Amino acid sequence: MLQTTKRPDSPVSIIGAGIAGAWQALLFAQAGHAVTLHERGDEAMTDATSHWAGGMLAPYCEAEVAEPIISRLGLRSLHIWRRELPDTPFNGSLVVAHPRERNDFERFARMTEDHRRLDAAGLAELEPSLEGRFRDALFFPAEGHVEPRRVLPQLHERIRAAGGTIKFCSDVSATDLAKDSDGIVIDCRGLGARDEKPELRGVKGEMILIETDEVQLARPVRLIHPRWPLYVIPRADNLFMLGATSIEAEDTGVSVRSALELLGAAYTVHPAFGEARIVEFGSGLRPAFPDNLPRIGIHGRKISVNGLYRHGFLLAPALAELTLAYVERGQIDNEVMQCR
Ligand SMILES: Cc1cc2nc3c(=O)[nH]c(=O)nc-3n(C[C@H](O)[C@H](O)[C@H](O)COP(=O)(O)OP(=O)(O)OC[C@H]3O[C@@H](n4cnc5c(N)ncnc54)[C@H](O)[C@@H]3O)c2cc1C
Repeated sequence: MLQTTKRPDSPVSIIGAGIAGAWQALLFAQAGHAVTLHERGDEAMTDATSHWAGGMLAPYCEAEVAEPIISRLGLRSLHIWRRELPDTPFNGSLVVAHPRERNDFERFARMTEDHRRLDAAGLAELEPSLEGRFRDALFFPAEGHVEPRRVLPQLHERIRAAGGTIKFCSDVSATDLAKDSDGIVIDCRGLGARDEKPELRGVKGEMILIETDEVQLARPVRLIHPRWPLYVIPRADNLFMLGATSIEAEDTGVSVRSALELLGAAYTVHPAFGEARIVEFGSGLRPAFPDNLPRIGIHGRKISVNGLYRHGFLLAPALAELTLAYVERGQIDNEVMQCR
């Protein structure tokens, strides 16, 4: 267990201002620690995987494919998002399918909990733009979503308001920081931490941003698809994010095939998406350990939080809460923490 500091005013250096580091910095700063958050990129955060994410807070939908620990941490995170950012939209999520994917749709319903089945009229009531588009849908009322490119700056602002310091364009090493101070260093570098964690890999997720005022949605719509969970997420200013592929590759291009699938999926959700303007193609590399599970590594005064894979926005608040409980009270979560 960590013996060096339990004082609330002790210095805490956090490396990486993506979603993992931002939540760590916020909870530690609010608890009274002297937090400095180092980020090697600038405030635009385009180097962070978090910049490219969908931002869905969907522990129930993710339970179809993810381990139970993702649901456990995810449910805790929903509570923290609501507590810290009460404006976070919790309008639920919808899952729809075309007739040829009927069996997969029924399987999704069996594998997941806390949903209601809507008929076509119920779906139209919830999302008028989808009237007549699908025979039925699954509605997960407790889920939320955030807009990563808005919520990251919002979190950074909250960190400053809580007394933390953020240093952009500050490329630092956890070992050097630990040598230079007697405080805690929390390494949230995502894929940038491969120098110390060579088992990390990047899983490519491609996305497309489109713009139209012909369709209005209040919540993410997932379309059952044989290979990937494809979805359309509403953003401010008539924008929609189409995501996301999941490919074992580490280049950051977007292939023609992926673009066709993402755009095709949107078009089948609503033909008006066919007239939408393409604003951006992009992709990010999800940092993943071989088992695709998140990990808090404890190495003396150095703590690493990584492997958030496809659930960074869903898990980051709960992981920060666990890290804080460890530093302040020595509390260990055996499922997530590894001590060396
Ligand atoms: C297309 C796509 C869709 C996704 N959709 C969702 C979703 O809907 N819901 C969800 O929960 N998750 C989603 N994810 C997953 C989520 O984006 C990741 O799990 C998350 O972004 C990982 O966050 P992170 O903070 O660990 O890493 P990052 O966001 O990559 O942040 C790490 C930061 O560390 C910085 N850094 C690295 N080295 C140094 C250094 N030496 N000094 C200082 N700074 C350094 C980097 O510049 C970077 O900003 C999606 C991912 C993709 C690609």
